[in-house]
This record gives sequence, structure tokens and C-alpha cells, in this order.
Amino acid sequence: MALEFYNTYSKKKEEFKPIKEGEVYLYTCGPTVYDFAHIGNFRAYIFEDLLKRYLIYRGYKVLQVMNLTDVDDKTIKGSIARKISLDEYTAPYKEAFFEDVDTLKISRADYYPEATAHVPEMVDMIQKLLEKGYAYRQGDSIYYRISKFPNYGQLSGMDVSQLKAGARVDSEEYDKETAADFALWKGWDDDDGDVYWETELGKGRPGWHIECSAMSMKYLGETFDIHCGGVDNIFPHHDNEIAQSEAATGKRFANYWLHNAHLMVEGRKMAKSFNNFYTLKDLLNKGMHPLAIRYVLLATHYRQQLNFTFDGINAALASLQRLWDFYETVQSAKEGDSGGKIKGAVDKAKRAFTAGLDDDLNISPALASVFDFVKDVNRVLNETGISHEEKQMVMDTLEGFDTVLAFVKPPDEARIIDEDIEKLIEQRNAARKNKDYAESDRIRDLLLEKGIILEDTRDGTKWKRKVE
Ligand code: AMP
Ligand code: ZN
Repeated sequence: MALEFYNTYSKKKEEFKPIKEGEVYLYTCGPTVYDFAHIGNFRAYIFEDLLKRYLIYRGYKVLQVMNLTDVDDKTIKGSIARKISLDEYTAPYKEAFFEDVDTLKISRADYYPEATAHVPEMVDMIQKLLEKGYAYRQGDSIYYRISKFPNYGQLSGMDVSQLKAGARVDSEEYDKETAADFALWKGWDDDDGDVYWETELGKGRPGWHIECSAMSMKYLGETFDIHCGGVDNIFPHHDNEIAQSEAATGKRFANYWLHNAHLMVEGRKMAKSFNNFYTLKDLLNKGMHPLAIRYVLLATHYRQQLNFTFDGINAALASLQRLWDFYETVQSAKEGDSGGKIKGAVDKAKRAFTAGLDDDLNISPALASVFDFVKDVNRVLNETGISHEEKQMVMDTLEGFDTVLAFVKPPDEARIIDEDIEKLIEQRNAARKNKDYAESDRIRDLLLEKGIILEDTRDGTKWKRKVE
């Protein structure tokens, strides 16, 4: 079956065909580092992570770029309020972003270009647009002339004539030929403090949209395969990116545009401005497991709105626990021969998993295939047991699913290998025999710290993994 994505540009599902066979060039709009990201933002990054991981599962090589917006009105305002440099202001938010990315098992992009490190590339592009008449100067600033780009608004389906008549769509207060023209370059003023670049365009700083055009093309080429972001990015940000890039190069900018729907709280988009947001740390401090958060953000199809609830997180943890317990069950399964049933279950699960995700990353059937697999294998384990090779086959299948979902395997931090556990239990038994209870308690506590619960029974000491 073919891999298909819903393309916002054509407004239909299309078969995915990369420009270079076997390779995918992917750009994903990244965070503005003026504050900590909230988990609505992470819904976007986790959807993009699923996309990338699934492309890799499907055998593609993926090159992913995600920008860091480290200069804009908000970062400048924040740094001035705190009386520190822009770099000092954004540094801790960049660091926190990467920490959260790792905690949520989002695989890292190949490049995280920072806007402040790519001003020359943006200046070059703006100059090209000036030369070609797509840009004009107004005072110390430079604007994009949307009337010169006939396809303007194609992605969002926005009616530009409405925009001309209507209110400004961008927040800048400068004079423009038409209201929807947007800033490519913002001339310096007092509000910018010491944040500016002296360039051939004058003293100032780049606008937000030009950043993504210049940096995506630098790392991915003038035309690349997939561009992603949340639906709020479609207009004006992505329409503006298309207008700038295609005017500058005369070529198509990106072939597939994929957008995720929002994470909602009581009917409203989770957003800083509505003050209805949680950062990842907020949730971790409430004792929530990061992988349960990942599960919740992933388990609803990316184009459907998702309502955030604490109950949802708790239910997710229960589902994960089933997977993690299963891992242990298989490890310690009794020897037997299923007579080909395991092979059958593996084939069925892999087929259903791929069929689901091939269909525009339809996650529900893909997750169902994983849980059905657990059920099917459990049945076989109870009936006949499995051979060593079959056990390996089951493990490999789980491993494969885990490369896409990254929550199938029990979390690393809880994992201490079975052999080490057995060794420590032997040491503890020896200590108990010698009535060295301090030592035996120490070993019990050590294991507990690693998430291993001991139970002393008449048949000896049994152990199981605790799931946090
Ligand atoms: P920002 O830092 O606001 O530019 O947002 C970074 C990314 O998060 C963009 O792709 C946004 O579209 C996305 N985003 C922001 N809020 C939400 C939300 N509530 N749900 C899903 N994605 C969001
Ligand atoms: Zn962008």
C-alpha cells in the first residue's frame, strides 16, 4: 500500500513521493524561546516526531531541520525587562526546550538553526526580493508586496481582497502599501534596545517569516519535501514563507504541507495568551509520567483536536503499564512451540500497524495493532509457551514498534537487567543467612530505587518491576 499524507496545500490526501528516492527533507517550525514551551507546543513536536520516526521505519533517510526563533518582539521585550542581553535571556529557554525534547523521547532534529546566527542569509534573500520588486522599503523597514505574488494565500485559502480591506493581520504599526503586506526587515527603534544588526539593509532585525524561508532553504535546498507546523502557522506564517521563497527562487518551496490540530483545554486552544497552559515540568511536578504525556499527545490523530485532561494521562499510564508488563511476561515466558502462531501474530500486527500509519499517520488502528498483538501473544503464551526464536521474534516486533512510538519498551531509567537483579538477590539472600540485616535491607532499598520490588515467599524471593 502507498504512504499517503493530507496535504494542506492541495486540501486532499496524496501519495507521498519524495524528490530524491529514499530520502526525505523535512522542515518543522520550532519554538520561540521567550518562555518555556507548553505541552500544546509539544503536541506539534510529537506529531512531527511520529512523522519522522515512521518515515524512518518505512526505510527512508530523513533530514530534519527545526528553527529556534531567538529574536522577535517577545524575546526583545523580555530581555529589556530583565536588563540582560538577548542571548542571556534566551539561553535558559533553549536549554529547557532540549531537556523537554529528550524527556518526551522526541528524536532530535539534524539541525536546530538559530535565527540570530542566520541574519546574513536572510539579508541576502531580502535583497533578492527587493531586486525582483517583491519587496519595498518604507522608512527604515522593508515589506513584502503581496499584490505582486498572484498565488498569495493559496495554502490557507485566504481571500486577499478581504485582507486589503480589513484589519492588519500582523502586529507591526508601520505604514505599508496594503494592510496584509508583512515585514521582512524591521528598522531599529528605541523599543529594540541594543538588539540590532548593521547590514546592507540598514540597522535593524529580520521579521519572523523570512527566518524560516532562509534557514529551511539553507539546509534543505530551494525545494524540499515536507513542511510542518500547527494549524495556527498556516496563515499568515506559512503563506508568507511560500510567498517569500517562491518569489526569490522561482521554484516550488515545499511539496507537502502537514499541520497538526490544537491541544485544547475546555474548548479553547492551549496558549500562553489564554493562560490555560501547562509546561512539561508542571505536569512532571504533579507526578505524571513523561511517557504517559507522550502517549496522550500521540494517541489522537494529528488532524483532530485533542482535549487535555488529567484523566486522559492516567488512562494512558494504564495502557502503557500493560505494554511494559507484557515485555516482562515475554522475557520470562515458558519454553514451548506455538506451531507458527507467533509468526502469524507478528505478520498480522506489522501489516495493521503499517496500514494504519500509511493512511495519513492514522494512529488509532496502529495502536490497536500493538495492543491486539499483546493479546494474541499472551494467548499463545498461556496455551503452548514459545520457543527461543519466537521470543526473539516478538521482541524484535516490539522493538520495531518502539522505534516509531517510543513508549512500547519500559522506560530506560527503570531498567536494570535481569542478570544484575538475580545477582543482587543472591547477595541479599547470603546476607540474610548471615543475619546481616543491614546489608540485606540495603540491597532491598537499592533495588527499590531502581524500580524493582522484592517479595519473599516460601518458594524464595520473587521480583517484579514497579511502574512509576
Ligand atoms: P510557537 O512557539 O507559538 O511559534 O509554537 C510552536 C509550535 O507549536 C507551532 O508549530 C504551533 O503551531 C504549535 N502550537 C502552539 N500552540 C499549540 C496547541 N495548543 N496545540 C498544538 N500545537 C500548538
Ligand atoms: Zn516557521
